[in-house]
Amino acid sequence: MTLTEKTLLRLGIRPTVMRVKMYQYLKRRQSAVSLVEMEKTFAQKGVNKKTVHKTTFYRTINLFMEQGLVHQIDDGTYIAKYALSDRSHIDKHDKDLHMHFHCTVCGKTLCLPDRISEKSLPDDYEVSNANLVLKGVCKSCRKNNKDEEASAVDQGN
Ligand SMILES: [Zn+2]
Ligand SMILES: [Zn+2]
Repeated sequence: MTLTEKTLLRLGIRPTVMRVKMYQYLKRRQSAVSLVEMEKTFAQKGVNKKTVHKTTFYRTINLFMEQGLVHQIDDGTYIAKYALSDRSHIDKHDKDLHMHFHCTVCGKTLCLPDRISEKSLPDDYEVSNANLVLKGVCKSCRKNNKDEEASAVDQGN
C-alpha cells in the first residue's frame, strides 16, 4: 500500500484511483486550485484514458472537506478554491487555522504557514473555519515587475 493510500484510509477515505490522483495533485500544488482548473489539468493528462465527469471532482472534493483533508478558500474572486489542510499537527481539539495570500497580479491564492491561535477566541466559542485573505503581490510577480522596470530604465538611456 502506498503512503497516499495509507493517509486516505487513516482519514476514513477509501482510496480509489481518482481520490489518490486528486490527493497527489493537491499535494504537489503550491497554490490553491479551483474545480475548473482541476478538471482542465486532469483532462489534459487524460486520467484513466476517459473524461472524468464534473460531479466526480465535486464529490471527491466534498468528501475530502468532510474528512478535514481539504479546505475551501474564498479569496474574493467568486471562484472557490481548494487546498490541502495540514493534518500533521491536528488532533480533535486543534484545527488547521491559517491565513491566505491572494496575489492581485497573477491571481494565485496560497496558504500561509503561520497558524492562528484559537486562544484568541473567548471561552465557549468554537471556530470551525478561518477564511482570512491578505491581498497583494506575490514574490514572483514582484520580481517580474522589478525586471520590467529595470529594462524600461535601460531602454530610456
Ligand atoms: Zn503573483
Ligand atoms: Zn489554506
